[in-house]
Amino acid sequence: MIDTPEHLDIRDARFRGLVHPMSRLERIAEGFTWTEGPVWFGDRDCLLFSDIPSRRILQWSEAGGTAPYRADSAFNNGNTRDREGRLVGCRHGTRDVVRTEHDGTLTVLADSHEGRRLNSPNDVVVSSDGAVWFTDPTYGIISNFEGVRADPEQTANNVFRLSPEGALSVVAGDFVQPNGLCFSPDERLLFIAESGSSHDDSVPSVIRVFGVDGARLTDRGVFATIDTGLPDGIRCDTDGNLWSSAADGVHCFAPDGTLLGKILVPETVSNLCFGGPDGRRLFITATTSVYRVFVDAEGAEPWARGRLCGPPRQ
Ligand code: MG
Repeated sequence: MIDTPEHLDIRDARFRGLVHPMSRLERIAEGFTWTEGPVWFGDRDCLLFSDIPSRRILQWSEAGGTAPYRADSAFNNGNTRDREGRLVGCRHGTRDVVRTEHDGTLTVLADSHEGRRLNSPNDVVVSSDGAVWFTDPTYGIISNFEGVRADPEQTANNVFRLSPEGALSVVAGDFVQPNGLCFSPDERLLFIAESGSSHDDSVPSVIRVFGVDGARLTDRGVFATIDTGLPDGIRCDTDGNLWSSAADGVHCFAPDGTLLGKILVPETVSNLCFGGPDGRRLFITATTSVYRVFVDAEGAEPWARGRLCGPPRQ
């Protein structure tokens, strides 16, 4: 019997099937200010991630280590990929959601709603129909640390959906600070993190769950409560388990909301994603560093599994 390593906090026997006692928590990159937005590019064998205050997107690979990907990222925060494999990111500085085309040019997808500038888009997911769903809290405009201080123009901190045709609509408007979001594997559920306790202790640190019916969400209440810190980035695996960032590491919840266990990380975790050549590595952005750990689970998003994402390149 191998002792449970120090970085694993097992709360439910099911968690033993998702981790391994011989796994290690590896710090693969360090020296940053506030890392965020991890996204796996299997077709390039690399991870991209943001360092928001230093206004950079970086890349990491097993072969090449850490290298610049984009300077002057306009305080880019959360990242994902669409079904064509293109990078889609949230920028605080320009207060927009932007897509990086295959030729490297940038296309702004959304920067205002009903004539008013967005607050500071934080995190983003793309559903299989091509719609772009993103959160718009105020973190990027309440100070000059990870954006440019400004008064909000929006009347609420919304969750938005950008239709494939380009129509932007509010799908949830009652969050204090909506943050990370992810779909269940069948896209019938959308989970959204409430991180409002960052500035108001009375706001519960919860992950809410919504039923998805096309472009509409139906509130199904609280999915899980984070017991240490607050939820920021979240991802589902292919079995419907939800993995959430927290102050003490990554918390893993079963589809029924039961806390299965934690991967303890020595720095506050902002976000995570699945990836790696076999799709079974969890990449964790945590304050000044990026960590990697083996998990016996695969990400629900197609880009998190294997080398290819979406339709093959022509
Ligand atoms: Mg976030």
